[in-house]
Amino acid sequence: MNQLIRCKNCDEIFMKTPFDQYPEYEVDSGRSRENFRSIQRDDFQDFLIHHHGHQLENLKIIEDSWVSEKPYSEPIKISFFKATNGKDKFVIKKFRKSIDEPLKYQLILGDYSLKCTALEIQSEEISKQLKRELKPPPAQNKIDAFLKLVRHTFESIDITDCERIPEESHHPLEVYYKIDDIRFMVLLRNCRNIFKGKEYSTMEEFIHRHKEDGVLLLKATYKIQLTEMDKPRGKTIPAILPLIKEKTI
Ligand SMILES: [Zn+2]
Repeated sequence: MNQLIRCKNCDEIFMKTPFDQYPEYEVDSGRSRENFRSIQRDDFQDFLIHHHGHQLENLKIIEDSWVSEKPYSEPIKISFFKATNGKDKFVIKKFRKSIDEPLKYQLILGDYSLKCTALEIQSEEISKQLKRELKPPPAQNKIDAFLKLVRHTFESIDITDCERIPEESHHPLEVYYKIDDIRFMVLLRNCRNIFKGKEYSTMEEFIHRHKEDGVLLLKATYKIQLTEMDKPRGKTIPAILPLIKEKTI
């Protein structure tokens, strides 16, 4: 199990993972495979030596606090999560500069929040799906009129009234929301001005198909707002102290 340890004197942290003591392999360039050299690594031991005599404490990771600016599948990225010692809260920055570098963790005194920077309908996807699913596809002027109607129906929406659909997104800062039924009723009613007869029926089916988990979800884009605080002055921690052994270390 992973364990997050903070040195209170240096405000440095260490993420102890089951992999810390795995050997690392080093290759001498230009030589054969037999020259792989195994190096016994113990990063946690290095951390303990470096912070000998300092006060260490365990931090608990705050659930669901993880955020990142890049998709979940992207290996090289900066992400943040929050942790606490039970009293103070900290921001932990997790990053690496290249794929072969180990993950690094940095403690930041401060906080972050997510700010919604855009709320939009999925115009391109709606248009694409209409052309793909409806046989024959509606005329372009009707598609444009429908997009205008969707935008108009959803524009005054308060996102806090909407249900979040988490499984739709592959990006941590893009969130999809489901629109309430009353707005869908309004949308359907106004659709009668654009589509008639059989075309209206197929549009009605299209709307029902896409309102729960499809292209009619609203897309919100968020930005990470990080606020860093200065380390409080005058609060020094004595450097030479016996290593406080917490039972989980
Ligand atoms: Zn230290």
